[in-house]
Amino acid sequence: MAIRKIVTQGDPMLTKKCRQVTDFNDRLHQLLDDMKDTLAEAQGAGLAAPQVGVLRRAVIVVDDTDEMLELVNPEILSQSGEQAGPEGCLSVPGKWGMVSRPSCVRIRAQDRFGNWFEAEGEDLTARCFCHEIEHLDGHLYVEHIDHFMTEDELEEFYEAEENRAK
Ligand code: ZN
Repeated sequence: MAIRKIVTQGDPMLTKKCRQVTDFNDRLHQLLDDMKDTLAEAQGAGLAAPQVGVLRRAVIVVDDTDEMLELVNPEILSQSGEQAGPEGCLSVPGKWGMVSRPSCVRIRAQDRFGNWFEAEGEDLTARCFCHEIEHLDGHLYVEHIDHFMTEDELEEFYEAEENRAK
């Protein structure tokens, strides 16, 4: 297990289409273990292999029970609803943008041994599925925004959220 360096916006790794994982070997397991360590250290909600400089279709997503899901060759099967909220990325540190995403997303992926499984995510997990899978095709969330949110805009959003919850 090791912490890997997270590349940031401007690095060509983040704009490339990643290749399918075909070998479910020790090298893949090492990558997934390292990605989990790196994500935990960075305290993020998700991490895609190209963010640590590996152009393969593998991502880690933290689900709503705080468990780290390993998704190899993930694909979106269906999506529904809509949510708008601030989104950030470990490769665009310290910045946030308002992005609309589906509120419910169903995916399928392979585990580290190559077995296919399906998973469903709502709210933040749904957002994270979309965000991480986009990384694998060389896209960043910043392509969906017209500006980064200011401190005031962020504060306003979270205040409104709190009021809605009351
Ligand atoms: Zn990201």
